[in-house]
Amino acid sequence: MTGAIGKNNSDLIEMNRSAVVKILQQQEVCSRADIARQTGLSQAAITKIVASMMEMGTVVEVGIITGSDNRRSIGLRLNADKHQIIGVKFARQMFAVGVFDISGKIYTHTETKYPLDEEPQKVLSAMKKQIHEMLNKYENVVSIGLAVPGPYLREEGRIAVVTQMSVWHTINFIEEFKEEFHKPVFIEHDANAGALAEWLFGGHTQPLHTLAYFLVGDGVGAGIIERGRLFLGVQGTACETGHISIDVHGPRCECGNYGCLEMYCSASAILKKIRERLPECLPSDNPKCSDACLSLFEAARGGNRIALDIVRETAEYIGYGCVTLINAYNPDIIIIGDAVSKGGDLLLPIVQEVVRQRVIPELHTKVRIQISDLKVDPTLYGAAATATDKVLQLPSRFSEAGRKEQEN
Ligand SMILES: [Zn+2]
Repeated sequence: MTGAIGKNNSDLIEMNRSAVVKILQQQEVCSRADIARQTGLSQAAITKIVASMMEMGTVVEVGIITGSDNRRSIGLRLNADKHQIIGVKFARQMFAVGVFDISGKIYTHTETKYPLDEEPQKVLSAMKKQIHEMLNKYENVVSIGLAVPGPYLREEGRIAVVTQMSVWHTINFIEEFKEEFHKPVFIEHDANAGALAEWLFGGHTQPLHTLAYFLVGDGVGAGIIERGRLFLGVQGTACETGHISIDVHGPRCECGNYGCLEMYCSASAILKKIRERLPECLPSDNPKCSDACLSLFEAARGGNRIALDIVRETAEYIGYGCVTLINAYNPDIIIIGDAVSKGGDLLLPIVQEVVRQRVIPELHTKVRIQISDLKVDPTLYGAAATATDKVLQLPSRFSEAGRKEQEN
């Protein structure tokens, strides 16, 4: 029910369980006392949560360890491969399918390219075939996560606007996937999925209140996580930073607005600039936007003036996006990810300078801005993180006993 504002006891149990799992993911082995200290929950609460997770098989005991307080106690670790997850990334001109465990370890993944004007049903059939093949090969898969470009209308199961691929907005992803695999499928907007990947698998060991994942790829968007929960809005399309107008007199965007941020710093915008100003830098006649970005960054690192100018302009616009994220959501960390973030150290000092100049000092000093260093594509990882998050929130739904209960 979307209108509920109170928190049920079961919501709190889920949030506490998610906090426990996050600590186990980051530290591999630790004691109940360590978890109690780090979560601020009572020993009794931790004992109860751990007992239910051991019953589900999500957590196991691993003998005696010496905790951070020098006391000897029983070690716990996630029984990670007991629950495997399939992550699927759907993007412009490519999709990827991967198998993960709930600690974020990747077992295998494939990438398939397709032309922009390919019929959607052909792409979907190829995607489903690959998922079936992985399900046949990995028998512990309990759930499937799919990440799609936004703005994604989660109740309707449709993407409202897919720039450059308008025919896709008629596809209902929920209808396409709900009966196909006999496994629960969870669909998430790509930037939200990336935010979950950073939250669960990003190795951020310091306590975080509000995490902003700033996706700068073929499109531009953001995912915001506050205390472990995604900020969604009523239709699930919140944080569409890419369609915030930064020039009200700018060119018309496919979303209907004018001068959207996405038109100035996305990988597609960069490709357009390379075509106009530095065509010798194009990796091929009809390159993928992400490949064009890589060759631009290489030229900039080699000292090419025009390449350096395009990089500077792009970084400034990413900086304006960060200023908006800080003013709108007051995060303690912004992580910039996807294709354009591969510019890394070329971009970051300029982004930070723009933010320093334009954000109220009291806010500026509290926010860290980083480039994502996830080793796996953040959107594919995020697709897996989306399903993992659901499994961790409600493990009973995915255990053998829980499934039987639901069937009866
Ligand atoms: Zn727009």
